[in-house]
Amino acid sequence: MRLKVFNRLYRRMLFLVCFVFGLLVALLLFLLFLLFRTSLFDITTISENASLIVICAVISILLVTQSMAIFWSKRITKPISTISRAVDEIAEGNFEVNIDDSKFKDEIKALAENINKMAEELRSIEVMRSDFVSNVSHEFRAPLAAIQGYVALLGDDSTTESQRKEYYTLLAESTGQLSGLVDSILKLSRLETQNIISKPVKFSLDEQLRRAVIMFENEWSAKEIDLELDLPGCECTGNEELLNQIWVNLIGNAVKFTDKGGKIGVKIEDTGKYYIVVKISDNGIGMSEEVKKHIFEKFYQGDSSRRRQGNGLGLALVKSVAVHTNCRISVESEVGKGTTFTVKVPKYSEANA
Ligand code: ADP
Repeated sequence: MRLKVFNRLYRRMLFLVCFVFGLLVALLLFLLFLLFRTSLFDITTISENASLIVICAVISILLVTQSMAIFWSKRITKPISTISRAVDEIAEGNFEVNIDDSKFKDEIKALAENINKMAEELRSIEVMRSDFVSNVSHEFRAPLAAIQGYVALLGDDSTTESQRKEYYTLLAESTGQLSGLVDSILKLSRLETQNIISKPVKFSLDEQLRRAVIMFENEWSAKEIDLELDLPGCECTGNEELLNQIWVNLIGNAVKFTDKGGKIGVKIEDTGKYYIVVKISDNGIGMSEEVKKHIFEKFYQGDSSRRRQGNGLGLALVKSVAVHTNCRISVESEVGKGTTFTVKVPKYSEANA
């Protein structure tokens, strides 16, 4: 609708400009005829028919300028109408739109290209959103079904005392899984949708790493894992809480994917002027190239045998935190030999959005 107004306005303006210009040219020509009488023109006839000449000239100018105005306004507004229709469709939720910009030029072409890019981006966000919803529902279903099953068994009169104890433990495990899932989803959504503005604080990175290792003491001591810590004192300024999530997830995974009697190393390898390099290594199950490609994707779990021990959100969270804290993460891994995550932590970083 707005475009039609623009079209009309434009046509009127163009018509006015052409008309005034044409009138001026006609007037100039007429004056020239009067001023420079030559033998080629019969001035007496011209003077007698002056009014007729002027009327004819005005009518022809009117016709020519009107057709020119219509032609040019259509030519100029056609790409804008196409773009406007596409934007209307996007606004109504149809992200499959693709403007054919092969005949467009300059800024109009750039505008059409940008709208195509925007539609493509929206399409991928839509796919991600629906994938996320179906993954979340799927992840919730398993522990919920387990909880339902154990509750039914606990209510059964034939259940013995020892079975009851076992079901309580399994019930606690499933509820723990659910609360872990909710916690991870909330953290991820907070990282993805909110601006994290925090005052950078100075903290001891070696101390933070030690505390993260101690968090998993029950697990690594039960598996008799040999821990090798090399943590020389070093300070860091940034978002302490966010950074801690990286260590908790990486050390937690190292413990989870290392078998009984294995080895885990947590080291601060290099404290340069601007960066501190932290390496978390294990001699656990390792990863294939295919698994490595997907580990930072939400809900991806490479090792199906340990599915119940996680939810596939840990490394997605690590990646998101790394982006916010300007850390760089790389991974080296070999199936059956182990995995090493290397994190380059800036000595000074402000958590950003
Ligand atoms: P999960 O909850 O399954 O641990 P993560 O997002 O933390 O989810 O990890 C994704 C996948 O990456 C894991 O399922 C596993 O296949 C692989 N992975 C992560 N860390 C290690 C590791 N230290 N050793 C072997 N595989 C790992």
